[in-house]
Amino acid sequence: MSWLDITNASMVWTLALFGSAPLSANPGQNPSRADTKDTTSIMSQTQSSADAVRDMAHKSSYGYEQVRFLSNSIGPRLTGSPQAAAAVTYVAQQMRALGLEVRLEPVTVRHWVRGREEAELVRYPGQAEGTRQRILVTALGNTVATPDEGITAPLLVIESFVQLEELPADQVKGKIVLFDSRLDDFAAEAGRWEQAYATAVQYRSNGPSQAARKGAVATLVRSVGSGRFRLAHTGLTTFQDGTRQIPAGAVPAEDAELMAELAKEGAVEIHLVLTPRDLPSEQSYNVIADLKGNQKSEEIVLVSGHLDSWDLGTGALDDATGVGIAMDVVRIVKSVCPHPRRTIRFVGWMNEENGGAGGRAYAQAHASDLANHVAAVEFDYGDGRPLALNVAGTDERVGAISNVLHTIGDPIGGVLRVSDSPGSDLEPINEAGVPAISPLQDARHYFDYHHSAADTFDKVRVDEMRRVVEVIAPLVYALAHPD
Ligand SMILES: [Zn+2]
Repeated sequence: MSWLDITNASMVWTLALFGSAPLSANPGQNPSRADTKDTTSIMSQTQSSADAVRDMAHKSSYGYEQVRFLSNSIGPRLTGSPQAAAAVTYVAQQMRALGLEVRLEPVTVRHWVRGREEAELVRYPGQAEGTRQRILVTALGNTVATPDEGITAPLLVIESFVQLEELPADQVKGKIVLFDSRLDDFAAEAGRWEQAYATAVQYRSNGPSQAARKGAVATLVRSVGSGRFRLAHTGLTTFQDGTRQIPAGAVPAEDAELMAELAKEGAVEIHLVLTPRDLPSEQSYNVIADLKGNQKSEEIVLVSGHLDSWDLGTGALDDATGVGIAMDVVRIVKSVCPHPRRTIRFVGWMNEENGGAGGRAYAQAHASDLANHVAAVEFDYGDGRPLALNVAGTDERVGAISNVLHTIGDPIGGVLRVSDSPGSDLEPINEAGVPAISPLQDARHYFDYHHSAADTFDKVRVDEMRRVVEVIAPLVYALAHPD
């Protein structure tokens, strides 16, 4: 399928503004529109404003330059780190420079830091005398440490939760469990990366706690990523309250395959050292920057990305890109429409990666005005071009903006109703009724580098980024400036 280019998108937009567009290019993807009343129309908005927003987006390098500074100058921005604090200060100052009303809203965050990370096979079939094999490993976020000298234990390779469930506990007890569950590369490359990721990531999220319950002494998971560059991809793992916590790391796909191959031939023993630590909680912040509406200032259109990142790379794709896109969207809409009817609110979230405290703090602090949040957008899938709009929310609240959603979304691939919030920081406000929107982006490139040491500025493609701004800036303009 070819990309419907921006010229076609522009044409549909133009027709829509003059009231003659077929508003649904994909009627099959529009189950809710016919029976809901749309109170947010873009039918009569001026063509010149719409064109100006899109033209600015098409030429803009502002968002890209923000990504450059966040990733190259500030660097990795793990929650609680000095770099995360610097990102708060920097983005707040940039938004003030754009003339927005800026404030910091407190978020108390966990401060977890990575330590030593070493692994080697100390026994395996065919081992040459006196040798060991190095295994690349990185700690999963928020995990506990091994003793300083590490642990040595037999390796047990598991491919699925069903397989783990069927094993008697005495076969798991005392072992280091390797979850060798593969990302479905074919599905991912065929465009179903969201589903492929969601399936594979369960082993990172829940594998360590499942293995601990059966008596394992540590867990390794095959990295959830699409590349084959021998990269370890970190990410969060969670232990339910009361579950015994064990050290957990991620290994590159290549190392997982090596261990799985050797384990088929005979006994494998591994030595593992992971020494992460939890430091005292820190006071951090969400950055809030408002362009106040001049007619319905209490009604809010929220545009966001997350300031924090993992610590292995410099968080360029995840999520400096999302922050840069959100900043640019607000900048462009403000320059074309300095006085929108509704308030446009930029949010730079803190702690998306290892806790989600920023999203929860916002939902709590703004509980009484969430009914006035018209919609919330988050960018958290890197730089890839948008291929549709993902939208989560009730028929009533999504229905109220469906005309705008379809006018913008249909030319690029449709408006896809999803059950879970398409941006994890938006989950708490989405659960409270706020429609959550994210562009469904081409994420093949993204999952090659996501959460790895290779998530660096050189991976960011400015032209792809601009395509996101070109689609979302008009969307935000139309939502914030209705008739
Ligand atoms: Zn992210």
